[in-house]
Amino acid sequence: MTRCFLLLVDGLRPDVAETRLLSGHLPNIAAVLRHGGRTHAITAFPSTTSVAYLPFLTGCTPGHCDIPSIRWLDRSSYRGRWWRDRHAIRSYCGYQAPMLDGDIRADVRSIFELVPESMGIFTPVARGLTPERDPSRRERQVWGSLAHVAMWHQPSDEAVSRHLLRAVEGSSRFVFAQFPAVDGYTHQSGADSPVVHRALERLDQTVGRLRQCLLSRGQLDDSLILLVSDHGASRVHTHLDLAEWFRAQGVPTLAHPIVWERSPRAAVMVAGNGSAMVYARPAEPRPERWPVERLRRAETFGTGQDLVSLLVREPSVAFVAAESETGGIWIENGSGAARLTIRAGRIVYRPVTGDPLLLGGAWSATEREWLEKTWNSAYPDAAFHLRDQFRSPRSGDLLVIGREGYDFRGRFEFPEHRWGHGSLIRAHMQTPVWSNQPIPQAPLRTVDLFPAMLGWLGVEVPEGIDGESVWLPSRAEQLPKPGRAISSDPHPRVRRSAGARP
Ligand SMILES: [Zn+2]
Repeated sequence: MTRCFLLLVDGLRPDVAETRLLSGHLPNIAAVLRHGGRTHAITAFPSTTSVAYLPFLTGCTPGHCDIPSIRWLDRSSYRGRWWRDRHAIRSYCGYQAPMLDGDIRADVRSIFELVPESMGIFTPVARGLTPERDPSRRERQVWGSLAHVAMWHQPSDEAVSRHLLRAVEGSSRFVFAQFPAVDGYTHQSGADSPVVHRALERLDQTVGRLRQCLLSRGQLDDSLILLVSDHGASRVHTHLDLAEWFRAQGVPTLAHPIVWERSPRAAVMVAGNGSAMVYARPAEPRPERWPVERLRRAETFGTGQDLVSLLVREPSVAFVAAESETGGIWIENGSGAARLTIRAGRIVYRPVTGDPLLLGGAWSATEREWLEKTWNSAYPDAAFHLRDQFRSPRSGDLLVIGREGYDFRGRFEFPEHRWGHGSLIRAHMQTPVWSNQPIPQAPLRTVDLFPAMLGWLGVEVPEGIDGESVWLPSRAEQLPKPGRAISSDPHPRVRRSAGARP
């Protein structure tokens, strides 16, 4: 029987993880990786907890799932009434967190549905999990709120470890375990701080016990152990409260946590806190987004000026993106604009008056080539993720991407985030993927791990997902020459594995 353990260390930066591993501080993890490998994966956008779990657990991107962010507004039904319309506004950061499963598009299937013998530990995405297969649901809510205020995150990880080690003793074929402490400590103390190091060392001990247990049951070779993360982090030196910015321009603005404003002319939904979606005239229901040309009009936000042009000149803004009435996605920063379009199955990037994605000129590439060529650039895989955002009817009219060092939420964040994530920058989008079985060194998307895990478990991969079967995990000892074969081929194209496992 094959088993798969997906261990998600929330907010773990790949460079920090790598340094701790290579300096010998994670000996148990090193033992697990001895016949396996390590690579990078680009996470989903926005690079923030829960939304960025969807690719691992559904094989679909947030836009495809119709969960464009951790906060959103349903522009087709919101009418500006405080109580009656509260369900048309969402924040998964509070009491609405359990609504996430029901908000995911109905035809998207989670790995918990596809693999009935599965378990989720501390998972915010639980579609398909019965209460007994989601044993820490209550604890997660209690620990989560306590830890957030008390800056006391290790007990959450300890609870996850206990449940994980209990699950190993059982017969679950797929186990997902989320370790929240690294992200919690990173927000306060930084990604490479002693408290993060200590959390990683505790995790290492858990992995050691997991390995030992599988070994004693004779299941280690038949187990795929993946250690991954959902986003990185970077230091925040300046908070620009984006809702306050709109108010300062004279725009009545709706934003969490007080989700009511009389006749709002903008709604600002912040994620992580390095990016935000802006909805123009949110209390005037309409099915479609407004294009950038309309957003620029003085009457749109009612201030007598073009607010988009003003916003892109803010130092905190890396760039903004919106649909264009002449087609494609318009991307603009303080020094100019470019357009993303699709032509003959390729994503085309054409600078118009500037190069906001910092690519050095015009580009045309398939989705996979975008990943391979830009995974280590200023905005890794940005074209793929910007297009994904505008797939969701729930996403805002204007997407605002924060520059490194800034975030968009000042007033109501407690405790203050000294480090953050949520943007499209490299420090937020790159994540580690460590495997006990050999893995190609080519960069992946986190969404590609979904078909990889199903392939390992011999479960058919659903049609229409965004993850591609670029990696079909196979046992270390089955390679023709140990340590060589898979990792020397950067682009093994194994399509739709559909149950076949070597
Ligand atoms: Zn976080």
